[in-house]
Order: sequence, then C-alpha cells, then structure tokens
Amino acid sequence: MEERLAIDGGRPAARRPIPISRPVIGEEEAQLVREVVLSGNLREGRRARELEARLASYIGVKHAIVVNSGTSSLLAAYMAALEKGSEVIVPSFTFVATASAAAFAGHRPVFADIRLDTYEIDLEDAARRISGRTGAIVLVNLYGLAGDAKALRELAEERGLKLVVDSAQALGALLDGKEAGSYGHVACYSFYPSKNMTTGEGGLVATDDDAVAERVRLVKDHGQRGPYVHEVLGLNLRMGEMEAAIGLAQLSRLEAMIEARRRNAEFLRRGLSGIPGLILPVEPQGRRHTYNLFTVRIDPELYRVDRDRIVEAIRAEGVDARVYYPVPLHKQPIFKSDERLPNSELAAKTVFSLPSHPALSQEDLEDVVRAVAKVLDAYLKR
Ligand SMILES: *Cc1c(COP(=O)(O)O)cnc(C)c1O
Repeated sequence: MEERLAIDGGRPAARRPIPISRPVIGEEEAQLVREVVLSGNLREGRRARELEARLASYIGVKHAIVVNSGTSSLLAAYMAALEKGSEVIVPSFTFVATASAAAFAGHRPVFADIRLDTYEIDLEDAARRISGRTGAIVLVNLYGLAGDAKALRELAEERGLKLVVDSAQALGALLDGKEAGSYGHVACYSFYPSKNMTTGEGGLVATDDDAVAERVRLVKDHGQRGPYVHEVLGLNLRMGEMEAAIGLAQLSRLEAMIEARRRNAEFLRRGLSGIPGLILPVEPQGRRHTYNLFTVRIDPELYRVDRDRIVEAIRAEGVDARVYYPVPLHKQPIFKSDERLPNSELAAKTVFSLPSHPALSQEDLEDVVRAVAKVLDAYLKR
C-alpha cells in the first residue's frame, strides 16, 4: 500500500495495514506439500483425484475436474460445452476472463447489463439478447453471492441454451440449500489466493453432463485419450499434485472459513449501516452469501468527491479498499462496443470492496469500520 497521510493529516484509522484478502494457510498445507515433494511425484495424480471426488460431493455434481486456474476452467468449459462460433451472453460487469475465455474458445461474447442490487446478470436484458447463434448464458456469482440460477436455468432450457455459471468467487454459496454452481449445465471455480479457498493457482469445472465432463478431461490434457493420439484440440490445463494437496487441506476448512467471512460481514454491516449514501451488500431470501468481498456502493450525489478519491482516502487510513471492476467489459479496448449498459456503467463508477476475509481480527474489523466511517463523514455533502 502507498504511504499517505490519513485524511485529517493524523494517524491512520487502522492500527496495522489490513489487506483486501489473505488466505488462511499454514502447517497442514505445508505438511501435505512436503509429502508430495519428498514423494518425487509432482504431476497430477491421486491427490487431484481425491480433491475432485470431495469437491464433486461438496458441490453436489457428478463430475468435478481440476485444472490449473479459474481462467482455464472457463476456457475448458466453453470449449467442451458449446459449438465453436457460438454467441455467449455474459454480464459486462465481471472479471475479464468470463468473456476473454469465451473468445479464446472461438465464441463471441455478447454483453448484457446487470442488476444493481445483487450485481448479477439481468435476466430480462439477457433474454433480449438471445439470437439464433446463442449457445449459452453466463451467470457470474459476483463477490461470493449466488445469483438467481433457477430462473436463468429455466430460461436457458426454454431456449435450448446452456447455463454456464462463473462461480470463481463463490465456492460454497448456496441457493435454496444447494451449492450455487450446481444449477449450471457447467460451473467454473477458481482457487486463486484471493478466492474462498486456494491452491495457489488452480480451478475446477463441475458438471452433471457426462459428455461435457469427458470433453473437459480431453481438453485439459492436449485432447489425448491415450498417449499421443489427439482427438480434439487441447491444451495443458492440468493441476499439479502440490496444488491438489493444498486444496485438500483448504477444503476441510472451507465451511469454517465461509462462516468466518459471514460473521465478519455481519460486523461490517452493523458498523456501516446508517451512513448516508452508502449502499450495503444484500443477501436475498434463500441465498447464502460467502462474502468473498464485502462490496458497497456510494450514491455519488451525496458526496463531494468521486469514488476513486474515497477509495484512495480509505487506503490512506490503512485499509486496502479496492475497486472490482472499474471498467465494464463492453468499454474495454479488447471488446469495445457502442452499447450502453447503464447499470454496469454505474456500478463500475460507484462500487468498492472492503476486506471480509477470515484472517481478519476483531481489531481489524473495528478499524475497517472506523476508517470507512471517517472518510465518508469527511466527504459527505452538508
Ligand atoms: C478470479 C476470477 C476468474 C479467474 O480465475 P483465475 O484463477 O484467476 O484464473 C474468473 N472469473 C471471475 C469472476 C473471477 O473472480
């Protein structure tokens, strides 16, 4: 974090710098990785198979296939589940990989707007964009909250499309008691260090569809079923055994980490409620938010400065507030279109995220609340 004076020129509100994310990782992971290293077998093997079996059962799907990143999980899913050259309807307000992986798989991303309450793809807007070439609609469970996968699955089935769920930020999110990714024809997860659980780099494809699972397994290993016979165009998207070992330790702690995120989020919610023009995250009935990030939004009318200035000031207080994502995908140089997607554009200008990760102490949480309250009070229009 950059060194800056706090807003009043005095001491920062945070007693120690508070990062936006930090994995809970330690002795157990170290021990399991040590075993792998000393075994001499570093390539994908029995630990990866065990991690897949345990994740399939946790998510409630027939097939779980580990890969080397969340981006790879999207690429493999798009290559395996759709005909080349399909249009893929994705929300504009998401991480770039949701759309760029579709482009790499030979499809055309078509951007739809989002809802401002949950930041998920807007169903009506997505439905309007379905054409004869559409192959899939993508639901992104942003910030750790399950979107309305049931309604989207129904729409997809009605129109003969696949529902792809990008749950990179939301492993363990629930919708009506079921894991949120399990509602997709295919779901993608990331195990990057900032996500709900980590393997360092890593990812997962989950599906009930035998044919999709088979193609994902081919695609992630150069399209070969047997040695050096290549049936489909593939890549090396395999996960190593050290990563799988870390994943096994993390998965056994996942529920406890999610519960800690939820307690932290409740503390932030209580501490930050009542601040004028600060819109807190929602958790609709029937959904379990995993609070991968505690993302708020400001009403720009009520503040004297813009969101970027507010985030800068909170960071100067020692709290690593960040913006996910400042530029919607339809405005990115790689995808540029003249489309207007007002909710995506507003969210990109007004959201910022605060730490809610399970490594936060009670003091940290108090400091996050003090820092945010102090900065917003200083910049509120009066
Ligand atoms: C993190 C993330 C990805 C990509 O995952 P990596 O493991 O970083 O490749 C894709 N989509 C979303 C929504 C993400 O948050």
